[in-house]
Amino acid sequence: KHIVLEGDIPSAMNPPSGCPFQTRCGWKSEVPGGLCETKVPDIQTLAGGHQIKCHLAEDILARMDAVIKIAAE
Ligand code: SF4
Repeated sequence: KHIVLEGDIPSAMNPPSGCPFQTRCGWKSEVPGGLCETKVPDIQTLAGGHQIKCHLAEDILARMDAVIKIAAE
């Protein structure tokens, strides 16, 4: 799926506080308490063993459309 990211590209030399993707993430308003701006997310393991680093709750993640689909072998 083709998506266009908006926002500022973070500096690799001086990354933003919290989640390094937070300057371009359209979902961070769904995370309470401004956590995306202050804390690097821990690893979450989702169904199928898929691992992500994100503060979003699992029910919100479940509402997202997949951007990349991997063909079955
Ligand atoms: S932790 Fe998740 S919701 Fe928050 S900015 Fe990073 S990618 Fe977005």
